Amino acid sequence: MSLFDKFQPIIDIRAELDRVGIMPFGAVTEKFLSPTEAVVNGHEVILAGTNNYLGLTFDPECITAARTAIEEQGTGTTGSRMANGTFAEHVRLEQELAVFFNKQHAIVFSTGYAATMGMASTLAGPGDVIVLDADSHASLYDGVRLSGAEIIRFRHSDVGDLEKRLRRLGERIDNTLIIVEGIYSMLGDRSPLAEIAAVKRRYGGLLLVDEAHSLGMLGDHGRGVAEEQGVEDDVDFIVGTFSKSLGAIGGYCVSNHPQLEAVRFAVRSYIFTASPSPSVIASTRVALRLLQERPELRDRLWDNARQLYIGLQELGFQVSPQVSPVVAVTIEDRDQAIRWWNQLLQHGAYVNLVMPPASPGDHSLLRCSVSAAHTPGQIDRILEAFATLENPAAGDNA
Ligand code: PMP
Repeated sequence: MSLFDKFQPIIDIRAELDRVGIMPFGAVTEKFLSPTEAVVNGHEVILAGTNNYLGLTFDPECITAARTAIEEQGTGTTGSRMANGTFAEHVRLEQELAVFFNKQHAIVFSTGYAATMGMASTLAGPGDVIVLDADSHASLYDGVRLSGAEIIRFRHSDVGDLEKRLRRLGERIDNTLIIVEGIYSMLGDRSPLAEIAAVKRRYGGLLLVDEAHSLGMLGDHGRGVAEEQGVEDDVDFIVGTFSKSLGAIGGYCVSNHPQLEAVRFAVRSYIFTASPSPSVIASTRVALRLLQERPELRDRLWDNARQLYIGLQELGFQVSPQVSPVVAVTIEDRDQAIRWWNQLLQHGAYVNLVMPPASPGDHSLLRCSVSAAHTPGQIDRILEAFATLENPAAGDNA
């Protein structure tokens, strides 16, 4: 026995992929040709597997702000928010997030992971209960495991199952945190948040929603699923990331609970890590403003999402349940998923390959995501790449 024995399954998979010359994990983006095109592992591709939903990573205003911040404040803060790492811009971004979300309080974290894991691990502790959706992101699972609270999972987006579990808690509901997501990252399906909020109103508890994949996409102001479904007042904590629709890196939590200001000083992933670099904060502040000033980005994103979703459906692929900026093609056979991922790359489309245990259930996924920066012609090119795949379900396309 050795410490390394447990890594054998990973070593085996890597060796197998090496043998067939396919390297889907950690594919190297060698050069950008445009915000949506790059050279990946030696192939010129349309990027159809990023989370650059609003296409802001190369926005000139964001880049100028980042460049100015570097010149004026340096490349890094070199310290934690608790020590030397709180600059005036971190505080401004927190104020801007609070105003945007219509909440009293906001915390900025160094990554989305630090925000979601940190809040999930800190709000509830030993003696408390966390009830979370079974398909929650790894960062939420890591957080709840660290918390020391009793963990109860309910079936993915099954409000009846959630209700049953909350009912059984009796008086312990007062010490219960419920955790769900807005848009789920793997299949792109939307949480039934209005119904979840109604159950929470009936039974109690506090509700935390991870809107990592829904910020900027849903709701009249782009605030996410909670806004779209009209239940923002029922959500106690919204967490999310700057690394997707805002095109940078970092995370946030917003809330109306005044205790958030005390929680800030208890979250270890806030205290024991350096604060985000000035350039990151500067581009994020501009991106948050553009998200509000340019609702047409949202419209373009959804037009692209519909085009890709309908196109993949027409080709006969098994796509996720709802039209969404994340469109996942489910594949039963893992080896076929690996082969198809590679074929897509060779035909000019980069998508994400997701295999169990990262995918929900036992299937593999070719997870596609669209951006407001894709042109309709580029979506067609992604579909043309899919049309080259030998798809047994597709009849004529086979
Ligand atoms: N929550 C969800 C639902 C996510 O999908 C992710 C990232 N994939 C995170 C949190 C973590 O965000 P980040 O990558 O910005 O650290």
